[in-house]
Amino acid sequence: MAKKKEKFSQAAMPSCPPRPVLQGQKALVTGASSGIGRAVAIALGEAGADVMVNYRGQREQAEKTAAEASRHGSRAVVFRADVSREEDVRVMFDNALAEFGRLDILVNNAGIQIDRPFDETSLEDWRKVIDVNLTGQFLCAREAVRIFKRQGVVKEVSRAAGKIICISSVHEEIPWAGHVNYAASKGGVKLLMKSVAQEVAPHRIRVNSIAPGAIRTPINEEAWKTPEAYEELLKMIPCQRIGEPAEIGRAAVWLASDDSDYVHGITLFVDGGMTLYPGFENEK
Ligand code: NAP
Repeated sequence: MAKKKEKFSQAAMPSCPPRPVLQGQKALVTGASSGIGRAVAIALGEAGADVMVNYRGQREQAEKTAAEASRHGSRAVVFRADVSREEDVRVMFDNALAEFGRLDILVNNAGIQIDRPFDETSLEDWRKVIDVNLTGQFLCAREAVRIFKRQGVVKEVSRAAGKIICISSVHEEIPWAGHVNYAASKGGVKLLMKSVAQEVAPHRIRVNSIAPGAIRTPINEEAWKTPEAYEELLKMIPCQRIGEPAEIGRAAVWLASDDSDYVHGITLFVDGGMTLYPGFENEK
């Protein structure tokens, strides 16, 4: 049984090289010094985009991301900013424009968890999570929309004036006891994304979300680092394996490219079936 699961967890890598579907485009990925943001920045770079790699604390890790994202000839630069701070965000977007001359893709990824029983959650624990996960996405999306509206469509670059991808979570749908601030922030991201998508569609700005299930990153290490924890985790995943960050990277490349030009205002769940309520699979 354990052997079968290990085999499943190795199944994440594609066998063919990525197509340069984002050639000439300019991207900004928040929280790209680790985990999902890192994999997304690398995937966008491999698809031909120049990438600004945002980080808050881990500069060296951000530089590693940039080195990998630029391996295939595109450019990558790192930039420190706390996405929950309005002034940091404004300066970061100014710098992206100064570096690249334009911006085509924002991946709103930076996120944190501070997990507590609900009645032990302080106002500070609540605010920190909402500030980064929800207000951070608002601040970055607002700057991106301002830029995309000014730029308009340049058809040699893309059919859209710009693309925003919000990294949400299965917990935009699934309630999560002990993680109320986090689930509330992701529920907020769901309607932030949809409402902005509705408003900016006439400007040819595409806005979508990716909702990862359990992905192997530092944020949820306690859910996969021991065999016992991993066994427990698999009870919630019909596909019987954890997801890999590169799988979110490939979804992001598709949502950022003209291959998905008619996809607008959706959440793409990349979760191994977690949202199929697997607890019900043996119910008669
Ligand atoms: P991670 O490995 O802990 O990475 C989090 C990233 O966010 C780091 O690069 C961190 O930067 C950055 N960050 C945190 N606070 C920031 C701030 N105030 N300003 C700018 N950057 C900040 O976590 P992850 O698993 O990759 O999570 C990435 C996103 O995916 C989050 O939105 C998370 O909610 C979502 N997600 C993850 C999973 C999963 O299973 N892993 C599932 C569903 C959704 P520094 O380290 O440099 O400070």
